[in-house]
Amino acid sequence: MTADPDRGCRLCGAEWGDYRANVQGEELRFCCDACASFYRLAVEELCRRTGWPRVDRLFLESVRGTEGDGWARHGEELRELHVRGTPDGEVLEELTIRPRTRGGAP
Ligand SMILES: [Zn+2]
Repeated sequence: MTADPDRGCRLCGAEWGDYRANVQGEELRFCCDACASFYRLAVEELCRRTGWPRVDRLFLESVRGTEGDGWARHGEELRELHVRGTPDGEVLEELTIRPRTRGGAP
């Protein structure tokens, strides 16, 4: 696991896997299919709730079991996220969206 969102898994930053999946027309790298599936679900739900046409970047800075905290960005807009899902990444059980209060845009 790394804090650098540009390395490793697009969702969680893990560097051990190399699973490719197409999301929003872009081929992205994930550590496993669960992360890929969950990323897709989170992006879809975010767009639905925020009205964003797409999500430029979504990253979980910390993951504990099936819960995680991170952020999502569209252009200059940034939101903090709290998510919870199933271990296989097939179900998004909870998504809390808050304005980003700390730090600048990653
Ligand atoms: Zn991952």
